[in-house]
Amino acid sequence: MENRSENHYDILIAGAGFAGSLTALILQKSGFKVGLLEKGQHPRFTIGESSTPVADMILRKLSSTYDLPWLYDFSRYGTWQQSHPEIVCGIKRGFSFFKHYPGEEFTTDENHKNELLVAASSSDIESDTNWLRADFDAFLVSKVKESGIDYFDLAEITTATRIGEWEFRVSRSDKNEVIYSSFFIDATGSGDLAGRLFEIESSSSGFFTNSFALFSHFDHVPLWKEMLKKFNIPINDFPYNPDHSALHQILDEGWLWMLRFNNDLTSLGFVIDDSEGAYDKLSTEEIWNDLLAKYPSIKTIFKDATLAKMPGKIIRSARLQRKLNHCFGEGWVALPHTVGFVDPLFSSGIAHTLSGVEKLVDSIKQFWGNDTLFYKSLQEYEHKVFEELKLADCLIAGCYKTMAHFELFNVWSMFYFAATIAHEQRRLKNKAPGYFLNADDPNIRKMVYNSYDDLLKIISSKAPSTEEIRDFTNLVKERIQPFNIAGLLDPASKNMYHHTVAVL
Ligand SMILES: Cc1cc2nc3c(=O)[nH]c(=O)nc-3n(C[C@H](O)[C@H](O)[C@H](O)COP(=O)(O)OP(=O)(O)OC[C@H]3O[C@@H](n4cnc5c(N)ncnc54)[C@H](O)[C@@H]3O)c2cc1C
Repeated sequence: MENRSENHYDILIAGAGFAGSLTALILQKSGFKVGLLEKGQHPRFTIGESSTPVADMILRKLSSTYDLPWLYDFSRYGTWQQSHPEIVCGIKRGFSFFKHYPGEEFTTDENHKNELLVAASSSDIESDTNWLRADFDAFLVSKVKESGIDYFDLAEITTATRIGEWEFRVSRSDKNEVIYSSFFIDATGSGDLAGRLFEIESSSSGFFTNSFALFSHFDHVPLWKEMLKKFNIPINDFPYNPDHSALHQILDEGWLWMLRFNNDLTSLGFVIDDSEGAYDKLSTEEIWNDLLAKYPSIKTIFKDATLAKMPGKIIRSARLQRKLNHCFGEGWVALPHTVGFVDPLFSSGIAHTLSGVEKLVDSIKQFWGNDTLFYKSLQEYEHKVFEELKLADCLIAGCYKTMAHFELFNVWSMFYFAATIAHEQRRLKNKAPGYFLNADDPNIRKMVYNSYDDLLKIISSKAPSTEEIRDFTNLVKERIQPFNIAGLLDPASKNMYHHTVAVL
């Protein structure tokens, strides 16, 4: 890389979320002169908090490959607490689902017919985490500054011109600047900037999933474990404390996420299916209050909860599904969360983003200076990210289709767990990671896409019959069998999976 003067960079990155900051740190370690630009200022509220085993595997790999030893500690709850207890996070032992029915308090039976708990880790120390993004992202920015990377906050790119290299005009609160770079990475987490600078369209077309979210952070949210106790529901055979997980309350029309941090703060958000377009005319308050009125146990969750200071309000998203038409062009590329998003149901965003960072920094390192090979690797990157979004969309759309029929939801969700276990195994065996969720595996693709068609046949017009549910369950069992090292759908487990931890 050439020796570059002030305001001239090999690579300029826009967006200092965890992905932009981490990419900047890695590329600097790889010898590039990097600038990082952020339109806001840290610490700031942002959503997207629950990590997964794959996310943690990638953090560990990035840590060792790019000599960032401090990053390793954030890949498990235990090491995080030892090294950085001041950076707030929560324990996430797995995914928990509890099904609620309109007008009824939460109830279940000894076979856990309205529950599904899937452990991802075997102890609190080894567990994944819920990241308080305000803290974690601000910490990464402090690392960026510490390592001498030029950091511009409260900065907006107004124009981008490319004649051999990029010339960015940047407006900041106190002055305007001109920044030059050979290459540009869009890590802004939405398609807006790529639309404005490169005229790339971002749209929702082609997605099966159609959902939006209402969310915030709250104080004084009661423990779900305590609520279950009040309902006389035993939890002695749960694989873990449900408050130490990505806790999902499943409704007919969507779900409520509950992600608890270790400082009494909880991230709560409804994600609602809007495939019928029924919510356009309703205010946020109306939708929120209707949901609480419809589901009594959900109402109890919010009884004493108060909005946390940050953000201090309930935020309503637009339709969550979006995808750029292209995720790279001459001299630029976008990270996965900028390229597109499906839905947070399986907390796949952080892992997907990290898998994109992993792929891109590898391409940049390998092919920098060889335009032909670099272009080819970016084409491959685009194919990967698009296929990954497509698979995630189908997996998640099937869940929305089945939320009113929990038995089927339970069965359908096993495709996600099978795909993710397959991907974990690939990584644990030190094979090339390929596509996220093994979206490059024809067997996984065939299994999910064919099964989605089969699901639609029984779900589209009427409530599925007992026989249809039984036959579909058997079909799923058979189809996940090649990937099922965790006893998924074994009736003896009674919806309590203690051992999906990826083992070889
Ligand atoms: C409702 C919801 C819930 C989610 N829950 C989860 C979850 O539980 N688990 C999970 O794994 N994933 C979740 N995700 C996905 C997760 O949020 C993303 O994967 C993650 O935020 C990606 O990080 P990022 O750094 O790429 O982008 P972001 O976190 O979006 O950061 C982008 C940064 O760019 C800055 N920026 C924006 N525009 C500009 C601009 N023009 N110029 C400069 N800077 C700019 C922003 O201020 C921000 O700091 C969720 C997403 C949503 C929408």
